[in-house]
Parts: sequence; C-alpha cells; structure tokens
Amino acid sequence: MPFIITSKFITKLLSIFISVYAVTLYPFIIASEQFDEFTMNHELIHFEQQKELFVIGFYFLYTYDLINGIIKHKDKEVAYFMIRFEQEAYEHQNNLGYTFERNKHSWKKYEV
Ligand SMILES: [Zn+2]
Repeated sequence: MPFIITSKFITKLLSIFISVYAVTLYPFIIASEQFDEFTMNHELIHFEQQKELFVIGFYFLYTYDLINGIIKHKDKEVAYFMIRFEQEAYEHQNNLGYTFERNKHSWKKYEV
C-alpha cells in the first residue's frame, strides 16, 4: 500500500506544467489537501500502473503520451486527459473496487 502525504508545498512545487491536486510518485501518494475516495481511487490506479511498469516505465510512457498528445491535439489540457494512464484512471475512478479486479496493463487498450 502507498504512503499518503498531504502537502500543499509539494504539490505546488510539482505544478510546473499543469496544476497538481494529487499525484502518485511510487511509493507515495501526495495530495494538496484531504481528498475523497474517488481521487484516492484514481491515484491507486496510477499506483498499480506504476508497479507493473517498474515505476520508470510509467514516467517514460506518461511523458511520451503527453508529448504525443500535445503534437496531435495541440492543447496541453486535452493532451493530459488523453494520456493512456489518465484515460484508464478517469474512466474507472468511480468504481472503488476497480484496482482489485483490473487486468494488468489495462491502459494499453486506450489511444492517445
Ligand atoms: Zn491521474
């Protein structure tokens, strides 16, 4: 299980490119303030994605998808939502049992 940190300071530091409310940096989940179970579930999905890609693979593909998305959609906010890891997390964050039932590498079915 992840370590949960609540820190406005850290999330502000990480808000270079887009404003960060909560972020998973394995093995931590860092949020700017108390968050609800759906945000927690969203971050837990990223936690699983990071584990299955040995963390570094996740950050590599996350950046790769983001750059691809910016080139394709010419909009950094659209590009963020089109990152395959984000598509999976947003689609399933309201299903609180999702991390227990998901198949590994489920993000692969999405397209930037
Ligand atoms: Zn996310």
